[in-house]
Amino acid sequence: MPRGDGTGPMGQGSGMGRGMGRGRRGAAGPGGNCVCPGCGAKVTHQAGTPCASMNCPKCGIRMVRE
Ligand SMILES: [Zn+2]
Repeated sequence: MPRGDGTGPMGQGSGMGRGMGRGRRGAAGPGGNCVCPGCGAKVTHQAGTPCASMNCPKCGIRMVRE
């Protein structure tokens, strides 16, 4: 056998090491606004507090994620 014991098989350059890019941005993350479906009032969404647990300061109804 002409090949030794695995002393570098050619063509295996980009196996591990890169390609782990987290591209996760855009939609519903922390931040953003909650909007009232009734009157359209917006408040700043606060992390840890779902919009559904907030009430519109005007209407008093539940708000939704914008
Ligand atoms: Zn409202």
